[in-house]
Formats: sequence, C-alpha cells, structure tokens
Amino acid sequence: MVFPDYREGRLYAEDVPVDEIAEEVKTPVYCYSATALRQNYLSYAEQFEAGNSLICFAVKANSNQAVIRALGKMGAGADVVSEGELRRALLAGIPASRIVYSGVAKTPDEMRFALQQDIHQFNVESEPEMELLNEVALSEGKQAPIAFRINPDIDARTHEKISTGKASNKFGIPWTRAHEAYASAAELPGIKVQGIDMHIGSQLTQLEPFEAAFRCLADLTTELRGLGHNISVLDIGGGLGIDYADGNQLPPAITTYATLANNILGHLDCQIIVEPGRSLVGNVGILISRVIYIKEGERDRFLIIDAGMNDLLRPSMYDAFHEIVPCELRGGEPVSYQVVGPICETGDTFARNRLLPPLLGGDLVAIKNAGAYGAVMASTYNTRPLVPEVMVEGSELTVIRPRRVYDELIGLDTPDGVPELVIQTAENKHRNS
Ligand SMILES: *Cc1c(COP(=O)(O)O)cnc(C)c1O
Repeated sequence: MVFPDYREGRLYAEDVPVDEIAEEVKTPVYCYSATALRQNYLSYAEQFEAGNSLICFAVKANSNQAVIRALGKMGAGADVVSEGELRRALLAGIPASRIVYSGVAKTPDEMRFALQQDIHQFNVESEPEMELLNEVALSEGKQAPIAFRINPDIDARTHEKISTGKASNKFGIPWTRAHEAYASAAELPGIKVQGIDMHIGSQLTQLEPFEAAFRCLADLTTELRGLGHNISVLDIGGGLGIDYADGNQLPPAITTYATLANNILGHLDCQIIVEPGRSLVGNVGILISRVIYIKEGERDRFLIIDAGMNDLLRPSMYDAFHEIVPCELRGGEPVSYQVVGPICETGDTFARNRLLPPLLGGDLVAIKNAGAYGAVMASTYNTRPLVPEVMVEGSELTVIRPRRVYDELIGLDTPDGVPELVIQTAENKHRNS
C-alpha cells in the first residue's frame, strides 16, 4: 500500500480523502495509516523471529497510545527513555517483560519505578549510573538486569545532531572501558549483567556503520564471555533511516539490514533486540495543513500554512527535508515558494525555494514522512493548542488525540497561586516566625 496516494487528483489517506479529515478535525492535524504501520512492523518481524528476537519500538519516535498499542498487539516490545514513556508503554498494553529502558541519565525515582515493574532490561550508559542503579535495586530488594550501552566510536555518517556513536558524543561507555565496566558490575549484588547494547545514531542510510557496530558487538561478546561474563542479550539499537525523497542516498531495506545483523550476530546464541523508531513510523504519518494565504515579499513568495514549527520541529531543528504535496492536483506551472508557518521565529520555515503547483489561500497540503519525531516534539509555543492526531484504517477514521481547547491550555497556569501549593521556603518560614 502507498500512503498517502492520489486517486483522480485527490489525496487519500488509505480510503479516506485527506480533505474530509481536514473538514472533520480541522487543521493542522497528524494522520497515521494503521495498515502502513503494520506493513513496516511485519518487515522487521519476518526477519527477527519471535522467541530469539525482540522488536522494541523506540517510543520516543511516536508515543501516541494508539500507535504503541497497534504495535504491541503484533508482538512488539518497547524501548523507553523516561518514566513517562515507560508508563505510556505499559498503559498501551506492552508487558514489562518486553520493555527495555535506555537513556543517558535515569533518576533514582525512575529506576525505582522501572524495577517495581520488572522490566526486561536497563541499558546502562555510565558507571555512575550502574552504581546508582545498584543502590536503588538493593533498596528495593531486587537485581537489575542490565546491558551496558557501549559507544563503539563509529561515525554513523548522519546529521551531527542525531549521531550518537562517536567518542565525542555523550552516549554510552567508550568501548575501550568496556572490560572495566563489566568487571565492576560483576562485583555489585544489585546488578545482573545479561548483555551488550549499542545505538550509533539515527537516520542512517548506509550499511557500513551498522556492519562495523555489529562486528564490534560480536567481538565484544566473545571477549566478555571469555572473561566469565554472562552475555545472552545483544541490543543492536535502532537508527535505520527512511527515504525522505530529499535526493540523498536511499537507506537499505529493512530486510537487508536485518539479514546483516543476523549474519554477524546470529551464531552467538543470544536474544537479539532491535529498537527501531523512525523506520517503523516515519513514513506512516503526514501532517495535514491549510494554506492561510500567500504573501508576495520583495523577492520571495511565502506560502504561509497553519502548521508551525511548534507542530513539526524537524525542519528548523535538523534542517530536515520534508516533501510537501497539495491535496488536490489541479495542474499549472510549478511555482517557487518559501513554505513557512505562522510562528514568530525566522526558523519557522518548512521549505525554502520549493517548487509546488500554484496554490491558493484555503488549499490543503500534506507534509509527508512526518510520523516519526513529529507530534512527539510538538509544543504549545505561541499558545497554540497541541496538534491533534488521527489514525486511518481502510475507510475508518479515528481521532487518537483530540484538539485541545484554549481554556484547557491557558487554564494550566494558576496566576493567583493555589493556597495549598504555596511553598514555605526557609526564608519565609523564618520571616513569619
Ligand atoms: C532514538 C533511539 C532509538 C530509535 O532511533 P531511530 O533512529 O528512530 O530508529 C533507538 N534506541 C535508542 C537508544 C534511541 O535513543
């Protein structure tokens, strides 16, 4: 299935015309395809067999409960990076036994909560974190199952803001220190070593960095086993890129990537965990937006749409390219537009000098490949209500996050204070006594 696709010049999300979604839910709105989501998951599941593998969806890419639940029903686990994400995954029905907890710095409270749920694995990113986790686990009367996230010092050849596997990045334990870290962990009664974890970056389009990382994992497995450590889980992280139609190199197919992992790691008799985010959800989402009007500048023609950087941050944060298409094909010579949002920031720009068919105020456009790192990064900047989300399946349209009303958003503040919430600082206690 192609999502979204044109039928007689009208853009459809599965069997639902996009203009009907805009009519029903108003714009801007994210729309996901349940069928495309399942297709992506199956591409992974066909290669990584249940039983000796676990596909842990990286929840930070798209944490809507409906998305997590759809994947969970098919057998997916979850890779979470905060207590909030862990709670979401559990509430969406993912059993704790299929949840791994990654992230640079987990707080003691977060560790405690995760230990109480009996999650499958903590991916530990530093020795101080290991020591803290040991203490919290002991205080809970538990042993924390861990893998160390090893930083293999590999250049993922991706955008610098989403590269995580170089020695200069803040993530993981340098591979040169791996032996020491595992030796220290073996001494800690609250820690149970079970594996090794890596995640070298996001939106990777080449196989070579993955190959280097997988080989590093295989070598380290043999070395650490030789030193007497139990290595039964290999977490290969996520990071496989998607085709943003930006003219850059096309990413390898999921099957190619998975075959490589199985070839290099398959013989080690470990459970293989893979943590895909973008490659599961990126191409299953569009952001639907309406043109407010067209403004002819001195030099440029601005296409001002009702979605802003607060709804989709990737273009301003990562210089990301997103394909933008009209929801109705009417023909006409393409025109060059600066596609911008209404936010008071110059960075609120979706595309520069983009050739599009001529558009008019009131027309609808779809920003493609917005299913990953889209709605999850949305904010209410400029006091704009949080962007809503819908899911389509066949001709069925379900609102999975309704549009909020202004009163709700503004009502979060308590301008006069709440008497029960007046906090007695040491200073005013002293003054009042
Ligand atoms: C972000 C992240 C992922 C998912 O990355 P994608 O590029 O979206 O596949 C997986 N694992 C960890 C530890 C992450 O931080």
